[in-house]
Amino acid sequence: MTRASRKVTRILWDSFLLRCPQCGQGHTFKGLFKLNPTCEVCGLQFERESGESVGGMYINLGGAELFTVGGFIVMHLLFKPPFVPHLIFWILFNIAFVLLFYRHSRSLWMGIAYLTRNKE
Ligand SMILES: [Zn+2]
Repeated sequence: MTRASRKVTRILWDSFLLRCPQCGQGHTFKGLFKLNPTCEVCGLQFERESGESVGGMYINLGGAELFTVGGFIVMHLLFKPPFVPHLIFWILFNIAFVLLFYRHSRSLWMGIAYLTRNKE
C-alpha cells in the first residue's frame, strides 16, 4: 500500500468512526443527530456548504437497501421463513439501519468531501 492510499484509507476510516478527517481526533457528531460545525481539536469546518450532506444520505439509503434486500433474499433462500413476519423483520431492520447508520454515512461523506475539496 502506498503512502497516499494509506492516507486516503485513514481519512475514510476516521470519518466512518465519526472522527475529524483532518486530524483524526475531533468528533464530527455530538449525540445521535447533531453535527458539530467545526472540529474541536483542529478547527476544520465540517460542512462548508448547505446541502453538502446529500451524498451522505445516498450512502445511508444505498447501504440500507443493499443490506435489507440482500438480507431478505439470503435468509429467504437459506431458511424459507414465513413471509409476513420475515417481511416485517426486514422493514424494521431497514428503519433501524437508516437511523443507526445516519451519522456514519454522513461523516463518511464529509471525509470524501474533505479528500476532494480544493485546498486553498
Ligand atoms: Zn480535526
